[in-house]
Amino acid sequence: MQRDNQPWQAMPAPRLDWSESGVPGSSEFGDIYFSRDDGLAESRFVFLDGNHLPQRWRAHPQDSFAIGETGFGTGLNFLLTWQAWAACPAPKPRLHYLSVEQYPLRREDLERALTAWPTLAGLAAELLAHYPAPVPGCHRLLLAGGQVTLDLWWADAEEALADLASQRRRWIDAWYLDGFAPARNAGMWSDAVLGHIGALSRPGATLATFTAVGAVRRSLQAAGFDMRKGPGFGRKRERLLGNLAAADITPAPTPTPAPPPTDTPWDIPRAPQPAPRTALVLGAGLAGCATAAALARRGITVQLLEVGKLAGAASGNAQGVLYTRLSRHHSALSDFALASFSDASRLYRQLFDAGELNQGIDGDLCGCFHQHHKADELADMAARLAEIPELARVLDPTEANTLLGVEQSAPGYWFPGSGWLSPPALCRYWSRRDGVILQEHCGPLRLQREGQRWLAVNEGGETVAAADCAVIACGNDSLRHSGLDWLPLQPIRGQTTTLPPGPPFDTLRAAFCHAGYMAPAGAEGHCMGATFNLNEDSAALNPRDQRQNLQRLAAAIPAWGDALAALENSDLPGRAAFRCTTPDYLPLAGPVPDAPALLATYAALRQNARLTIASDGPYMPGLYLNTGHGSRGLSSAPLCAELIASQACHEPPPLPRYLSRALAPARFLIRDLGRNKR
Ligand code: SAM
Repeated sequence: MQRDNQPWQAMPAPRLDWSESGVPGSSEFGDIYFSRDDGLAESRFVFLDGNHLPQRWRAHPQDSFAIGETGFGTGLNFLLTWQAWAACPAPKPRLHYLSVEQYPLRREDLERALTAWPTLAGLAAELLAHYPAPVPGCHRLLLAGGQVTLDLWWADAEEALADLASQRRRWIDAWYLDGFAPARNAGMWSDAVLGHIGALSRPGATLATFTAVGAVRRSLQAAGFDMRKGPGFGRKRERLLGNLAAADITPAPTPTPAPPPTDTPWDIPRAPQPAPRTALVLGAGLAGCATAAALARRGITVQLLEVGKLAGAASGNAQGVLYTRLSRHHSALSDFALASFSDASRLYRQLFDAGELNQGIDGDLCGCFHQHHKADELADMAARLAEIPELARVLDPTEANTLLGVEQSAPGYWFPGSGWLSPPALCRYWSRRDGVILQEHCGPLRLQREGQRWLAVNEGGETVAAADCAVIACGNDSLRHSGLDWLPLQPIRGQTTTLPPGPPFDTLRAAFCHAGYMAPAGAEGHCMGATFNLNEDSAALNPRDQRQNLQRLAAAIPAWGDALAALENSDLPGRAAFRCTTPDYLPLAGPVPDAPALLATYAALRQNARLTIASDGPYMPGLYLNTGHGSRGLSSAPLCAELIASQACHEPPPLPRYLSRALAPARFLIRDLGRNKR
């Protein structure tokens, strides 16, 4: 999945061929997406009945039931499964549906295909409302109030499944093998694909497919399944059904084929912990609150403990812009920036649509314009973005002027799904989710391990709370926790300035990014800024910084030059806080290593950084970190929270492994070893 330095582009669209009755077919593969006769009945019979659904949900022992699918196509199988799950009486597990698709249908084609099924119209509308742009990678959709998780891996099946299998965890309870016919699409049925399917299957996993081809049956047997033939649908005589053979159920399967030789598994905890029932989250800023909500969504009781008040530190500005960056080439930094932005933008849109956040008060996804001065890059990206206008497009100054409502002298990117949000409003929303118990003003807390639990202990030595797992989300203060002094966190002071509502600033209709940012007016005016002050530790407002903010904005919007200059000597409201940054500009999200043991395990990297050491990483049991979001917490915190909650609860991850490695706190220890610095 990792494509460092390769050109970035949208996933290819399928070449569709519509029949007169409205059934889509693929002209690439010469096959159809669903049956012309009775697509609904065939899908139900082959995949749901073939995996004994919904019957198995009633007796499922875990909190979540995971289905893996090869080929999302029109989403028909998914919608039928969701419909059956919704009709299944409680108690039932949450539904986690993971599907890989290399040629994602464009939204208009998906809409056209799904009009064929009036009985699925309600669910189809919810899917369409959140259907992701064809950006390569994994897209996690939370549907049905968060009880249904849909992971759409826009990727080649072999690549995505190899990536997941490389983590050597069994996640999937049932498989729908729905690539086009093996004779027309051998790649979807290769030994490698089917081997990964075996390696990812939980004890008791089943599979079903429409095909009865002997080579597929034999490959699935080799992958560990007991296979049998069942009756086919309609005119088809047979289909294949399978169960993971008991002998093949080992806790840590070896991926097939073997992972690449450079794959030292330092990011994989040696001893996975049982899924937690209770959790402590330290720090009630964006990272902590998002993590608390992600854990609570999984039925975990979360104590959210804050030294001072909710959103009182770096997440306290009245307005922030939902930021991302585009790059012509893949890198962990730009891929994560895009993945996290897409995830956050979808999530916030859902919260506004559901009335959980108040439009115009808690934020507004009114779009965002980024000034950009490199003409060659813009020209190049304009062509690539033509495939993906729902993500971004290139604007010349005149178009930017129209969308932004403010005269522009520079071109740039327009992000229609972006806008501004109030970080404190989001923190409040997350901290009030069912299962989250917020305690403010706890004073400094330290974590202490006692038996199988983590205790949060205050300065007086009293235990404030205890739980099965703990997440440290304390920004720069995270490194005060015992065993974390090696974290390379750096505070960078930032001062914002609030411009008064009213002319000339009130024509601004969308968020605006240049060297700084500015939002359309919120309750208190327009928040803009922010300065970058290294080595400064005063939280007091500074007139120099106010002047700098005004002058930078005037340089970006010359039309406001006089109005901004007139404000330079007035005492404008503002706020100073300390961003928590990391040397590689990526957050820290994942399990906390046992640093001395990790350094000892991988000591040989000091001599040769490229060496492969087969040993898994020593980690602190049930301890996680979510911090280092810099000024991008609005974009990055929700996806990091999902990553941590998935890791803690043994669920499939929302990111490919190269990105979860790029976020793993232990990366800095591993890099230091490779540079012989430790
Ligand atoms: N399950 C789908 C539904 O409910 O509409 C129908 C799937 S259709 C029969 C097969 C799908 O496999 C197509 O969407 C096709 O683009 C996808 N596909 C083909 N080759 C692929 C590959 N190598 N990796 C991932 N997806 C692939």
